[in-house]
Amino acid sequence: MKKIAILGSTGSIGKTTLDVIRESKDLYEVVALAAFSNIDELEKQASEFNPKIIAVFDEKKAKELKKRLSNIKIVLSIEGLIEVATREDVDFVMMAISGSIALQPTIEAIKANKTIGLANKEVLVAAGSLIKDLKKKHECTIIPVDSEHSAIFQCLKNEDQKSIKRLIITSSGGPFFKYRREELKNIGLKEALKHPNFAMGKKITIDSSTMMNKGLEIIEAYHLFEVKQENIDVVIHPEQIIHSMVEFIDGSILAQLSEPTMEIPIRYAISYPNRIKSNIKNFDFTKNSTLSFFEPDLEKFLCLKLAMDALKVQKSLPCFMNKANEILVKRFLEEKITWIDISIKLEKLMSLHKSENLIDLSSILEVEEEAIKKAEKI
Ligand code: NDP
Ligand code: MG
Repeated sequence: MKKIAILGSTGSIGKTTLDVIRESKDLYEVVALAAFSNIDELEKQASEFNPKIIAVFDEKKAKELKKRLSNIKIVLSIEGLIEVATREDVDFVMMAISGSIALQPTIEAIKANKTIGLANKEVLVAAGSLIKDLKKKHECTIIPVDSEHSAIFQCLKNEDQKSIKRLIITSSGGPFFKYRREELKNIGLKEALKHPNFAMGKKITIDSSTMMNKGLEIIEAYHLFEVKQENIDVVIHPEQIIHSMVEFIDGSILAQLSEPTMEIPIRYAISYPNRIKSNIKNFDFTKNSTLSFFEPDLEKFLCLKLAMDALKVQKSLPCFMNKANEILVKRFLEEKITWIDISIKLEKLMSLHKSENLIDLSSILEVEEEAIKKAEKI
């Protein structure tokens, strides 16, 4: 039995992970759960999966859950998340917390030699070099859960790094792919929260609408697969059947295809290096006979360009950009700024940021602090 901890179990990825485990209860045991404050959902999950420990970030809610579940160990705050991610009896950690709060638990899980299913992309954007170094030092396995990166990871199985010519990351284009530039000024919250193919958490849904999500994914791919930036391309593929591709030096291209569902990359991550049976029906090519591809418009989707620029500069700029974007998206979700403001304000903030080397966790947290302060005010 593989023993699993799920951080972010009440979110979109977390719940889908539990759906996948529910289908294969003979293979997996849920040892630990963690969330921010949704204790009603945690209580429901606990009664079905009977974990040994639950971490609740919010202190008050943690105390309330303790009263409800007297036979389960309840821990709180960042220390609680770290305890869950590093427990001796955990083999596999699903890192599905949103935002860069996942950074410390991920670092500690690597140090504890856990196999990590990494859904959270912000961690790699904020601290890619640090994570890469730690991963090598501790010989830990990180399996990408983000569908594009899972696709590339699958295409690269048994391939030599030297054989890679380029990575081709596909994108749905988001809900505003066909909008004209003038129309972008009037986008409302409801429209931005409607992703064409996936039901996801709010932050990533907004990032998909601005295409910042694709920008973060380029940076994520850069750190995961150690390919030069100029060898990572993005192509718009609205049907989202091809989840990404690798072109090799001999001209061959491998792609991973399926219906768009996060179940597949999640199942692959927890079963890796094996594959396990799912209830997904046969793919019908005749019903999916059109696969189309377009170039991304970097003027219309400024956030994608900003992320590409940040990766060129490196140092602290991707980390700064990531946190500033997180705050601006939060302000948009609170209807305090408009959709187009996210990219305009982010461009301004990035132009004023003085990039420095990020040597350790404390310098990363300092840059994040600066980003929070500035993005809240602008
Ligand atoms: P959701 O918003 O649906 O869920 C976020 C989860 O994180 C919730 O369980 C939430 O708990 C928890 N959480 C947030 N803050 C904290 C905290 N401080 N301490 C502990 N738990 C916390 O997000 P998604 O599931 O959509 O995304 C999760 C991550 O996966 C993101 O980084 C996203 O970019 C990435 N991802 C998601 C995809 C998707 O299809 N959804 C696809 C690819 C990547 P609570 O419910 O209590 O607030
Ligand atoms: Mg993705």
